[in-house]
This record gives sequence, structure tokens and C-alpha cells, in this order.
Amino acid sequence: MEMRTIAILGATGSIGTQALDLVARYPERFRAGCLTAHGSSEKLFELCRRFRPDVAALVNEPAEIPQDLRGIQWFFGPDSTVRALLASKCRDALCAIVGIAGLDAVWHALDVCERVLLANKEALVTGGDLVMAKAARLNKPMLPVDSEHSAIFQCLQARQGNPVKKLLLTCSGGALRDWKKEAIYHATVRDVLAHPTWNMGGKITVDCATRVNKGLEVIEAHHLFAMPADRIEVVIHPQSVIHSMIEFEDGAILAQMGMPDMRGPIGYAMGFPGRLPYDARPVDFAALGHLDFAAPDHERFPGIRMAIDALKAGGSAPVILNGANEVAVGAFLRERIPFGRIPEIIQSALESVPVSPIKSIADVYEADRRARAFAMGSI
Ligand code: NDP
Ligand code: MG
Repeated sequence: MEMRTIAILGATGSIGTQALDLVARYPERFRAGCLTAHGSSEKLFELCRRFRPDVAALVNEPAEIPQDLRGIQWFFGPDSTVRALLASKCRDALCAIVGIAGLDAVWHALDVCERVLLANKEALVTGGDLVMAKAARLNKPMLPVDSEHSAIFQCLQARQGNPVKKLLLTCSGGALRDWKKEAIYHATVRDVLAHPTWNMGGKITVDCATRVNKGLEVIEAHHLFAMPADRIEVVIHPQSVIHSMIEFEDGAILAQMGMPDMRGPIGYAMGFPGRLPYDARPVDFAALGHLDFAAPDHERFPGIRMAIDALKAGGSAPVILNGANEVAVGAFLRERIPFGRIPEIIQSALESVPVSPIKSIADVYEADRRARAFAMGSI
């Protein structure tokens, strides 16, 4: 089996560390040639000791690099991720930075890597048209890591040229699924970070509770699979065993299932078209007994509806939604605003920040800057 070098961008995060678990299981197939992080220097040093990359990067420069890690080529500063990626010459890039901060890395990875393994959904929410056009122009595969999109991608392998009528994205419902509207408004950081089925980074866990995450995923699916918004449906499925589904024109539906563990979709992207066995818990249908489904409640959780409206509005609207959300989630995690303010801030940003056309990455950053300035002013 050929050896692939992989750059893990956002190596210290939830996705990054789970990808490295797979690298460690398959030393004859993968070598982590580049590891990057934002400020978690001690954590990155530990990973560097274990995986010995050629290149590493930290946005925040630490006071010093430990003696035993000075053989690694280090990069620091705001553009350190991209400079490290370019220097590493890795064949694959796993883009696992959180937020629009990861867009630049996705953009450059398309230039220099053979394949982009995409966890960083905000890169598609904000720059989706440009990123997908570039991937098509350069004929570079974008392999989804997000579990729903990996599920759809896996189902599509059995498509045999048949048209797909609809994509069905499943949604656990998040930590506040059964809460009343008034209680949701004042949910604490602790309440929100207690996700029922997945263990993830802080930002995406808050996004799951507001359901903005599922809205971002509708936009992500629209770009990855060239599917209009009105043919993407969200289904609440609390057990997170069905990861998503596709429906054909004859009504037949294919679903991809498994116990929730991100190493499944991460491994599918890393090993594609092969599969990487790991110590996955098997699905025990008899023990589960039943799988439940419900329609999303857009009244208590407006996140999905706002994202679909932004997608339909087009231009910079999804960038405004994303930028306002990133600012509001950050403020909630620092306990500066109540949980219920997050959707309110997004909604007022969508109503107040003018929508403009997106023709370049610079346009994306300009719209993001405006949305952030508006959201900061609302806190
Ligand atoms: P985490 O917060 O756990 O990790 C984020 C990683 O990105 C860390 O390594 C962090 O470094 C780095 N990082 C953060 N900000 C910057 C920045 N400005 N510049 C460079 N690096 C930065 O996030 P997750 O792993 O949970 O999520 C990563 C992405 O994957 C998100 O887009 C998320 O939506 C998506 N995703 C995650 C899933 C999950 O299960 N976690 C599931 C599906 C999608 P440091 O540690 O130093 O801060
Ligand atoms: Mg997901």
C-alpha cells in the first residue's frame, strides 16, 4: 500500500486529534508531514514528539521551542498555517481549523495538495462557490469529513448515474432538544456543551444547540453535491445512528449508519476509496430497539431556517450569517450574552448588513468584516 503524507491543519482540535489516532493506527499508510494549531503550544509540542512532522505552525508564537523539537521547520504568525502547508509538500490536507479562519488554508490546499479532506464547513459556507469552482477547475477531489456529508458521499457511491431527488440530513437535535422556549433562552455554557451523542470542539457544540450547525450543513451540502436548498431536508434523529440519506426518483432511500464516532468519516476520507477499520463500536439493533425521527421545530430553533433563507438570498448573505454567528458564539462562550441572543444577533445582522455579490475571496473577507463589526456592536 502506498504511503501518503498528510497535513493536519488544526491538529490539536477534536477532528485533528482523532485523525492522528488513525495515523497512529496505520503507520505504513500515513505520515503526518505537517501539524498546525492556533495557540495550544504544549499540546502541539506533544503531538510533534509523537508524530515527528517535517513542518509545524502556531499562529501565536510561543516563548521558545523545546530543544528536542528544533529539528522541525517552524512557522508562526497569522499566515503560518498556509506557509507551513506549502513548505510541507504533503499530498493530502485535512482542513480541520474551526471557522472562516480556515478558508485560506482550504484555498491554498487546493493549489498544492492532491486531495482536500474537508472538516472546516465554514470554508464552504462562506466561500463555497469559489472553492468548488476552483476544485473543479483543478480537478481536485474535496472529500467530506462532516459525518452527514460523508454519509451522503458514501451513499452516492451506489448511485450508478441515477439522478438523486433529495438529500436527507439527520440532526441529533443538540443538547437542548427537549427544552421549552423560555428555558432555551437562558441555557448556560455548561448546559449547551453537554452534547447527547458527539464529543466535539466548543464552537460546533454551541452551533448544534442553536441548530445553526445544521443550517451551515445544508449550505455545505448544497455546495458539495450541487443540490438546491429545496431538495435538502433536515430530519431530527436523536440517536445519531443514521448519519444521513439520499432519496432516488423511485422513492428508494439509501442510508449510511454506524455508531457516532468521527473516526468513521475521517477515516473514510483518509482511506478513500478504501476503508480504515478502527475499534468502532458495532451497531446493536436489538439493543437499540428503535430509531426515532421528528420534524425540526423552527420556532424554538430558528438556526436552520435562517441559514436556508441566507442560502436562497445568495451573494454575501451566508457570509453574514456565519460571521455574526462566530462573534455571537464567542461572546456566549465567554458568558457575555445569554444563549438566546445568538439567533437574535444573526437575524439582525441578516436584516441590517447589506448583501453584496461575491466575486473573489477578498469579497468574502470584506462581507465577513462587516458582519463581525455589526455583531460586535450588538453585544
Ligand atoms: P476544535 O475547536 O476542537 O479545533 C480547532 C482546531 O483549529 C485547533 O487545532 C485550533 O488550534 C485550530 N484553530 C482555531 N482557530 C484557528 C485559527 N484562527 N488559525 C489557525 N488554527 C486555528 O474544532 P473541531 O475539531 O471541533 O472542529 C474543526 C472543524 O471541523 C469545524 O469547522 C467544525 O465545524 C468541523 N467539524 C467538527 C466535528 C467534530 O466532531 N468536532 C464534526 C464535523 C465537522 P488551538 O487548539 O491552538 O486553538
Ligand atoms: Mg455534522
